Amino acid sequence: MSGTGAPGGADVPESEKVEVGLTAEEVEAYEALQEKVRQGRTLQLTMQAPRRGKPPRHWADLDPEQRREAVLEAGLPRFRADQLSRHYFERLEAEPGSWTDIPAVERDQLATAFFPDLMTSVRPLSCDAGTTVKTLWRLHDGALVESVLMRYGVAGIRASGSGRSRTTICISSQAGCGMACPFCATGQGGLQRNLSTAEIVAQVVDGAARLKAGEIPGGPGRINNVVFMGMGEPLANYKAVLGAVRVLTAPAPHGLGISARGITVSTVGVVSRIDQLTAEGIPVTLAVSLHAPDDDLRDELCPINTRWQVDQVVESAWRYFLATGRRVSIEYALIREINDQVARAELLADVLRRDGGWGWVHVNLIPLNPTPGSKWTASKPEDERAFVRRLQARGVPVTVRDTRGREIDGACGQLAAAER
Ligand code: SF4
Repeated sequence: MSGTGAPGGADVPESEKVEVGLTAEEVEAYEALQEKVRQGRTLQLTMQAPRRGKPPRHWADLDPEQRREAVLEAGLPRFRADQLSRHYFERLEAEPGSWTDIPAVERDQLATAFFPDLMTSVRPLSCDAGTTVKTLWRLHDGALVESVLMRYGVAGIRASGSGRSRTTICISSQAGCGMACPFCATGQGGLQRNLSTAEIVAQVVDGAARLKAGEIPGGPGRINNVVFMGMGEPLANYKAVLGAVRVLTAPAPHGLGISARGITVSTVGVVSRIDQLTAEGIPVTLAVSLHAPDDDLRDELCPINTRWQVDQVVESAWRYFLATGRRVSIEYALIREINDQVARAELLADVLRRDGGWGWVHVNLIPLNPTPGSKWTASKPEDERAFVRRLQARGVPVTVRDTRGREIDGACGQLAAAER
């Protein structure tokens, strides 16, 4: 979850916001949300998505058996199902016009029945010398969501960072978010609706196709990691998110063949769903946005805490680790003079400590974007350093997240800001 949900992004110049294809009303609505965040207003927590604007059924919404049945029902040979999957998931050809091994009449029939237009790119924005690309999507009912592709370790491009070459895509799971975190523009916009499995998968297919086509500096490549850290609370849209995880991890031709270990599902602490995910036995990485180690503060920063408190959230994350062996990420947005005191670092270590040491957990500290005049702004550098030092002194594995894509308000830098 997370994301600013920023259609256009707070740091995009005014002239460019209009140019990216947003309507004047959309720009105005987004700015109103930012103002609400600055003023510290808060919405109510909403767990239930409004039933509106259900997207049309798409090939990626179906499992392999349903795809075969659907093709037979359409009066076409069964083998067409695998052919279609190969085009969409393996060759990443989302345009039916390019499926020349299927007769044109059948192609049109299949395209109409199973490949409706789910979303259109309003316009991609890029930074970090083209290695970070944020795409703002308009869904069939006008809702806006975003995805961010980040390529790391590209030889010759310093802005892409160091280390081994890899690509991560950060995707959205809901239009808006019902979790009402007061420092997040998405949260202050409320929940519009859940995305379908196919709408989630389509964000990854698009990113994978761009990489494959060599559109991102560094030559043709593949997606290594998918993080559900764009707009929305993934575990509040459990069924569609799990459906997407299954399609993303299914081997070709039925899915994208991405390793479950390369997928991170984040949550602000929907404990009942963390337990459900634990029972699935899929070794994805779980990221829990904690943001505060004490209930008093967390009630304010993450209203879901009034339902499941810090101890319950950490305990469910611990159970996830015990069941899957996957180290859990604890996300903690450092907010100036709100949650960045050394005493809270100490308390965070107390809360996370489990028998057997620190092998079960890793803390990611997320620097907020500096927002002058807002109650929610970046910690002072000395406070950030002191917080890190105290965690390290306690032996807690900790990283300060890089703020990739910040200049375009990239979901995963600002998303960071937003929620993680
Ligand atoms: S920060 Fe909170 S409100 Fe914002 S997207 Fe994440 S869970 Fe939702």
